[in-house]
Amino acid sequence: MLVPQELIRAKRDGETLRAEDIAKFAAGIGDNSISEGQIAAFAMAVFFNGMSRDECVALTCAMRDSGMVMDWQKAGITRPVLDKHSTGGVGDNVSLMLGPMVAAAGGAVPMISGRGLGHTGGTLDKFESILGYQAMPDQDTFIAVVKEVGCAIIGQTAALAPADQRFYATRDVTATVESVPLITASILSKKLAEGLDGLVLDVKCGNGAFASDEKFARDLATSLVGVANGAGVRTSAILTDMNEPLASAAGNAVEVVNAVKFLTGEARDPRLEEATLVLVAEMLVLGGLAANQDAGLAKARLVLDDGSAADVFGHMVSALGGPTDFVERYANYLPKAPVVMPVLATKAGMVSAIDARGVGLAVIGLGGGRTRADQKIDHAVGFEGLAAIGSKVAAGEPIAMVHARHQDDANNAAAALKNVYTIDQEMASAIRPMVIARIDGETV
Ligand code: URA
Repeated sequence: MLVPQELIRAKRDGETLRAEDIAKFAAGIGDNSISEGQIAAFAMAVFFNGMSRDECVALTCAMRDSGMVMDWQKAGITRPVLDKHSTGGVGDNVSLMLGPMVAAAGGAVPMISGRGLGHTGGTLDKFESILGYQAMPDQDTFIAVVKEVGCAIIGQTAALAPADQRFYATRDVTATVESVPLITASILSKKLAEGLDGLVLDVKCGNGAFASDEKFARDLATSLVGVANGAGVRTSAILTDMNEPLASAAGNAVEVVNAVKFLTGEARDPRLEEATLVLVAEMLVLGGLAANQDAGLAKARLVLDDGSAADVFGHMVSALGGPTDFVERYANYLPKAPVVMPVLATKAGMVSAIDARGVGLAVIGLGGGRTRADQKIDHAVGFEGLAAIGSKVAAGEPIAMVHARHQDDANNAAAALKNVYTIDQEMASAIRPMVIARIDGETV
């Protein structure tokens, strides 16, 4: 077995590491026997020399095993256990609908989600907008809600993949985040600790995504699919466009409202609907709940149309401490911003481009996102009614409504939003397709 400095040296010199050496190193990250300096040096060696598929599977499994791994069979769950992970975007509230939809279609979804960081939003922050919702329940409650409702969306606990928490904190301050194998091991160690039968990855690509470049997004998707399947979990990835906010809302409470309206059929943003249906269908196929993508799409539409997905959402909210009538009376249980003001287009034309990252940064400017992991956020603020690319607008017509704590914040956010919207007489290029590619275990 290699001592840590020999393992780092071997990776530095471009050698291939043995699974048992990687496992010991990852266990040492989890139990603090490996120093921060050694983690940093290892991360930099991987950043420059990469990892083979087998090395990355070994790192992922070892990081997964640094903490608890859920066992749903032992908990008496017989449904296929499924989840989705998105690499993060703006106005990406897919998880809020997708979890209940998959549960309504026969899956079990124990979704452990994260907070927003940087310009992207976080599912956990959105749920914490709801009065009484317990996003960090104890283990027994989490299991009981998945069993009873079919779906529980909660926050990351220190018990799952603790090695990743330490590894990521060091990568974050040593310029080693942007490494495909390290991102792969980081994302998958946490997801695989959920004890899944199937996983779908929504790898976002565009100006509002972590991966702005399509080649990087494809490489990441291929690595995630290859490694997760290599670790024994049926996994596929959908590459989706993130060159504009996915929903017409960006923020926290505003995205919850958007999700409830989606589930009840009151309003569905077309691109959000397409992405959600495709991802749900993919999960149903992976879980053996649909024979193919078309059957999965039909089932996904059915659980929306018959109201069963909305019922699961409401049931999950109340089972996790929220109100029993949230779906019917959501406005009573979400925080309201004191200032709600239209953002007016300064000229007539067509929305031809949006800097989605700029929209996310404007939400942070309002206090709805963080610049440091320990910051508190304002759940009430954000944008709704965001005009999509291709929308026609007249001068003086709203391109969005801003929800702010103070008038000054609203004015600043309105100015920021106008700056990231491009309004032209015609479209510079055709509207991009929502789904760019599908990558499955057979294609990697
Ligand atoms: N998200 C993660 O969880 N880990 C990474 O390394 C990058 C993004």
